[in-house]
Amino acid sequence: MTKVENKKENLMRCICESCPSYSECTKGEMQGLFCARAKSLCGFDKKGCVCGNCPLTEEFRLTGGYYCESGAV
Ligand code: SF4
Ligand code: SF4
Repeated sequence: MTKVENKKENLMRCICESCPSYSECTKGEMQGLFCARAKSLCGFDKKGCVCGNCPLTEEFRLTGGYYCESGAV
């Protein structure tokens, strides 16, 4: 597992927007790339996590998910 860099190129590849757990709050603030950033302060219901389908998961060999709740790895 490698640390994900908090940079625009990585944010552009984040697929959180397509996640069922991505809320109106996170959408309104255009949040994402939680695996490299702090956790979201938005409340949300756990309805699944699509991080496993994200290209960054493969590239950085991430093993988790729900980074919006836990913050950076
Ligand atoms: S692994 Fe998850 S939080 Fe990280 S960029 Fe991909 S979709 Fe976003
Ligand atoms: S970190 Fe996972 S659960 Fe949270 S919004 Fe992104 S894909 Fe969904």
